[in-house]
Amino acid sequence: MAEGSVVGHRWAVQLLQNGIRHDRLRHAYLFVGAAQLGKSTLARSFAQSLLCKEGVDGRACANCRSCRLMQSGGHPDFILLPPTDREGQPDRENGLHRAEQAADIVRQALLHPMEGRYKVFLIQDAHRAHVSFANKLLKTLEEPPPHVVLCLTAPDRSALLPTIVSRCQVLALRPLGEQVMEDALQARWGASAQQAALLARLAEGCLGWAVDQLDQPEPLAERSERLAELQELSRSSRVARLAFAQKLTAARNQTRLFTLLALWTSWWRDVMLAQAGCLEQCANIDLLDTLADAAGDFRPVDVQAYLRTLSRIEGYLRHTVNTGLALDVLLLQMPRPHA
Ligand SMILES: [Zn+2]
Repeated sequence: MAEGSVVGHRWAVQLLQNGIRHDRLRHAYLFVGAAQLGKSTLARSFAQSLLCKEGVDGRACANCRSCRLMQSGGHPDFILLPPTDREGQPDRENGLHRAEQAADIVRQALLHPMEGRYKVFLIQDAHRAHVSFANKLLKTLEEPPPHVVLCLTAPDRSALLPTIVSRCQVLALRPLGEQVMEDALQARWGASAQQAALLARLAEGCLGWAVDQLDQPEPLAERSERLAELQELSRSSRVARLAFAQKLTAARNQTRLFTLLALWTSWWRDVMLAQAGCLEQCANIDLLDTLADAAGDFRPVDVQAYLRTLSRIEGYLRHTVNTGLALDVLLLQMPRPHA
């Protein structure tokens, strides 16, 4: 594998390296795990090692023509789906892999590699495939030409047809440890010690998420604003709370709503942890002073009841059309500081 490109996931890196070293490759690999966990990075690194002309022991050399082509994103024997646009963002028309794309893969798979021994296909978010895509893809998986290696990514194996999963070596990636992420964020992405510690804590094992936050500081600023707003809401009147619920309902933005609920849950869970004397386990480590104050301001029983309400309402919101009513309840039941 390309040295240094993959952070963590040592067992998976080793398994793939051993496959290359002993020439025991499977025709298809399925990388499963949460979003931004490093599935595609690992698959690309594997592809680079497969295509490298000077590699030793399953590791890519990082210098040969093939490695340079991989690093510049222009290797003719590495085919990425969905393709990326000029900014490197995935180019997903209507969000699904379509049958004609699968037909293209089947056609390309039959052609011999242009540079070396293999042709590597990386199909990201394979679960977002139209059923006709999956059926066409199965054709390639049933009778793969010997030079073809398919890499698929998906959130978990149950998101794909069992007939596809059974033809793949499944690599279930686990969330990265906080320390591993903290070190990598400082050493490789130039984060400050403070930034690295906070992002590693908030990322829940998904390094890609943390790296994205470094590139665009807005989400972190947005998070601070939303948390300040939450403090204010917990101290405001019923009228103000209901007005907030109405504003949220009117925005009709499910993604933002669930992001907000996840943030609220992380905050109230932290208050509960602080009340239990476990301040060091809190997620929002940049706000420990505020959390310590909140721990004294609210009754533990109210906080615990509200965490249950949050979880219940969140589940309800995923299945209901009556967002307004659910949000009214959610806002009215938020704990108030005891006198
Ligand atoms: Zn190389």
